[in-house]
Amino acid sequence: MALLITDVDVKDIRFPTSLLADGSDAMHTDPDYSCAYVTIKTNKGIEGYGLTFTLGRGTEIVVQACKSMSYLVKNQNVTEIFENFGSFWRKLTSESQLRWIGPEKGVTHLATAAIVNALWDLWARIENKPVWQLLVDLTPEQLVSTIDFRYITDVITKEEAIKLLKDNEKGKKERVELLRKNGYPAYTTQVGWLGYSDHKVQELCAKFLALGFTSFKAKVGQNLKDDIKRCQLIRDAIGYENKLMLDANQIWDVNEAIEWMKQLMKFKPVWIEEPTSPDDVLGHAIIANELRPHGIGVATGEMCANRVMFKQLLQAKAIDYCQIDSARIGGINEILAVYLMAKKRGVPVCPHAGGVGLCEMVQHLQMWDFISLTGSTENRVIEYVDQQHEHFEHPVRVQNACYMPPTAPGYSTKLKQDCITKYSYPSGQQWTDMYEKGIFQKPSN
Ligand SMILES: [Mg+2]
Repeated sequence: MALLITDVDVKDIRFPTSLLADGSDAMHTDPDYSCAYVTIKTNKGIEGYGLTFTLGRGTEIVVQACKSMSYLVKNQNVTEIFENFGSFWRKLTSESQLRWIGPEKGVTHLATAAIVNALWDLWARIENKPVWQLLVDLTPEQLVSTIDFRYITDVITKEEAIKLLKDNEKGKKERVELLRKNGYPAYTTQVGWLGYSDHKVQELCAKFLALGFTSFKAKVGQNLKDDIKRCQLIRDAIGYENKLMLDANQIWDVNEAIEWMKQLMKFKPVWIEEPTSPDDVLGHAIIANELRPHGIGVATGEMCANRVMFKQLLQAKAIDYCQIDSARIGGINEILAVYLMAKKRGVPVCPHAGGVGLCEMVQHLQMWDFISLTGSTENRVIEYVDQQHEHFEHPVRVQNACYMPPTAPGYSTKLKQDCITKYSYPSGQQWTDMYEKGIFQKPSN
């Protein structure tokens, strides 16, 4: 009997993180970390779980987009999807009516990510492997066959991608062993959310130093005086032997970014992340050119719409660090294309994580990058935020400031049933309790 997809279930899950300013930055001052959560059901009982990350209001729109797209997935033969994953991915992203409200960007692409992530989770569960292992075990030809190369062949072709992977096959086994032993280096963003008090920042620096972290990121961009004070505070706590990264979350104009960063230069940041609009490729290039001589790199990617934008950022030498996000562009298939382009252009990938489930997912991708593509962790780190992990059946394991390779089959994306019951929006038990206490207002209609 063929393995068929019988249903696609989509849920709106929200956590009230705005209450403690967790996740607050210059542009997103009160996020309620949320996700559109997709369960792909089959006729043999095995299921796949995927999600895309959102900030609260608007999650219902992404949920609806997943539902609108789900007819493309229902009743499909699972084996056929994975044998022709590249063309199936194109079918999802090029649906002749839905693409009008994208194409390959915004809400429809967030929905694509949720569905595609669930498909990869399902594939890995069928193979009884964690996703990183599934990726590592695919032959270069199989792996590359999952990618849609439309719009990027001017930078990388299928043949070149296969060659990049073949060139790095030597030593794979040893790198798997290294990873199992040491894990993959992480950095923390938790010391510097914009809404945190000085005291909390100091406490968190001490906490993460004690945990073995050597790279720290702080949010900047709302007020220069405060930024100088905050950077000084963090440098005093972590010293100059550790690394400091800064993140402006898109708040500046191009010239403003350059001027502002020149004021923060003395704190020796490794990179400035999202200095301006995520769509401004040439603006990023100008900022990068101005700051590079001062030892500051430009990083971006968490809101980069798709592989075409990443291609241009790489072509224009606009980024020194490429920050893929596991839930914004269209899932693993498209992210692999970005990793391959970054490798060809010699730009290290440092994944964006945090949010809901992003740490759980990106660890798989970065481990694959180390084992199968670049063979290196130099200038590479995975973002780590110690929030929302408790809701997952197989949360990340971070030891000595390193992500340890997941062992459970899948993409680490399955939420606990208890979490779904409590945090479903708007009628989960946690939410109804909060309406009663007057902490949140019950949505009308
Ligand atoms: Mg960021």
